[in-house]
Amino acid sequence: MRIENELKLGFKDVMIRPKRSTLKSRSQVSLERNFTFVNSQKKWSGVPIIAANMDTVGTFEMAEALSKYKIITAVHKHYTLEEWSSFLNQQPDSIYDYIALSTGIGKSDEEKIQKIVEAHPKINFLCIDVANGYSEHFVGFVKKMRTIFPDKTIIAGNVVSGEMVEELILAGADVIKVGIGPGSVCTTRIKTGVGYPQLSAIIECADAAHGLGGHIISDGGCKIPGDVAKAFGGGADFVMLGGMFAGHDESGGEIVEENGKKYRLFYGMSSQTAMDKHSGGIAEYRASEGKTVKVSYKGAVAETVKDILGGVRSTCTYVGASQLRELSKRTTFIRVSEQENQIFGG
Ligand code: 5GP
Repeated sequence: MRIENELKLGFKDVMIRPKRSTLKSRSQVSLERNFTFVNSQKKWSGVPIIAANMDTVGTFEMAEALSKYKIITAVHKHYTLEEWSSFLNQQPDSIYDYIALSTGIGKSDEEKIQKIVEAHPKINFLCIDVANGYSEHFVGFVKKMRTIFPDKTIIAGNVVSGEMVEELILAGADVIKVGIGPGSVCTTRIKTGVGYPQLSAIIECADAAHGLGGHIISDGGCKIPGDVAKAFGGGADFVMLGGMFAGHDESGGEIVEENGKKYRLFYGMSSQTAMDKHSGGIAEYRASEGKTVKVSYKGAVAETVKDILGGVRSTCTYVGASQLRELSKRTTFIRVSEQENQIFGG
């Protein structure tokens, strides 16, 4: 046993210090970024936010709505080839910049994405997603996918430490998904005691990825627009959101009504609900590591998008960043022991 004594930080432990700025208005701030991915060598521009590949978030309806804002949707892995085809056949060509095809690392996952990509070769982003990105088998799968799909942009995760980010980039991934345990419907920290405070994970992993020309996604733990800004400030190239995009018209998830109030179900991808729905229950040897919750119905996702983008734009004006690209360079985090004033509720 060993103890690392350095304190690691989450979003709640810091604020961003304001700085002198020459910007007159938040309308002068651009949130678009341009990236060239290290292994696929593909270029991309857009607003680097990603809807999570959960079936109560990353739906086709969500992809259609968010693509209008140049935001990516990591479409969940449970759609069939036929469903993909009927969706893509109704979309303009630009949709391919804003969708990722998600997959696990099982044999059936592999066969399925091969078929989908064969039928729709313009799909560019592949999101290879496992709860624990530390396994050798996962690294082997990423290598294999790089060989099979030399020019696709491969997202792979999740991990929380620099050495694993480097290993995955060297194995052929372009963008590494960072986060173990911070998610709104995640119970990994409760069931296993494993995790890493998200802001420190971002700072350490971004440093490792950028050193090799790679990129990272901060995945999980954003509850409010200020957290999204802190993730970018810490060096995340992309920020993935689950809970903040749940509960909308486009989100999927059963609608329930209680005492005249509308809710949508939102659940973790390894929750009992997800396992029952997709895998015929939880296998004997494992515990559920996700919750099922009811989220108040929030209407169209467009309003939430405006709220998030407006918040991040405002952060940029507070620190004098005319482009999102400059935010992390202009960010000084101050460690704090308070956040917002809760006198009138959260
Ligand atoms: P949120 O934005 O809701 O805080 O976090 C979303 C992220 O939580 C997802 O992108 C995914 O990485 C993670 N997640 C989703 N479902 C589960 C689950 O059932 N268990 C765990 N441990 N994490 C989950």
